[in-house]
Amino acid sequence: MGQLPQQSEALVLRYTDYGEADRILTLFTAHHGLQKGFAKSARKSRKRFGATLEPFTKAVFHWRQGRGALLSLQDAELVDAHFGLRSDIKRLALASYGVELIELLLEEGEVYQLIYELLCGFLAYLDQAGELSSARLLLELRLVYLLGYIPHLLHCSECLKIFHNEPIRFDANRGGSLCHDCAGSSGFAVGLGTVGSLSRSLKVAHDQFYGFRFGDKTLQEAQLILQQVLHLVLPKEPKSLKFLTQL
Ligand SMILES: [Zn+2]
Repeated sequence: MGQLPQQSEALVLRYTDYGEADRILTLFTAHHGLQKGFAKSARKSRKRFGATLEPFTKAVFHWRQGRGALLSLQDAELVDAHFGLRSDIKRLALASYGVELIELLLEEGEVYQLIYELLCGFLAYLDQAGELSSARLLLELRLVYLLGYIPHLLHCSECLKIFHNEPIRFDANRGGSLCHDCAGSSGFAVGLGTVGSLSRSLKVAHDQFYGFRFGDKTLQEAQLILQQVLHLVLPKEPKSLKFLTQL
């Protein structure tokens, strides 16, 4: 009995070449989450896959269920190659980091429609020469939020007091923001303006990257906050982070 081919729009996260002409793709699909797909003879014939087999490419893939965990990819139609982000080493480094975060944080086979849309928005923004620091901040913040790891921001995570114009500290190990009395010397000082900006940014559509303007202090503090939160939830440090930091 023949199986009907299945299809989904997907982003190519990375690939491994296999044998003489095959390629194994790690795909983030819109409707089936993270999947690995086997593209047989992909490097010999460009007829079936065209230019869809490169990282950061968005395409509609057709497959048949393979014997093992791998999808047996049949062909694909290009949606967007995101050529723009490949022309600049900083954009490329940030895109690699974003894609690695996704792979490290998501469970294979679970559906993550909103995070898929978030990554699409992020890559499209980088492709169109968007501003890099705010792109990184928004991706990290929303990933943490959509996966349920968002720390307490506008109130003390221990006594739950809502902040009003006062010095506060942040410690992800203790749940997030802390009032002066609860904090002691734990964590690091952050401005109320920074946690306010992060909180407001979460009220905007999860795939919108245009229209944000963060000050230098907010960007610096937000980076410390998000790095601390991510450090707690990531199984290991992303390899691309070192390169990104060097740039
Ligand atoms: Zn407190």
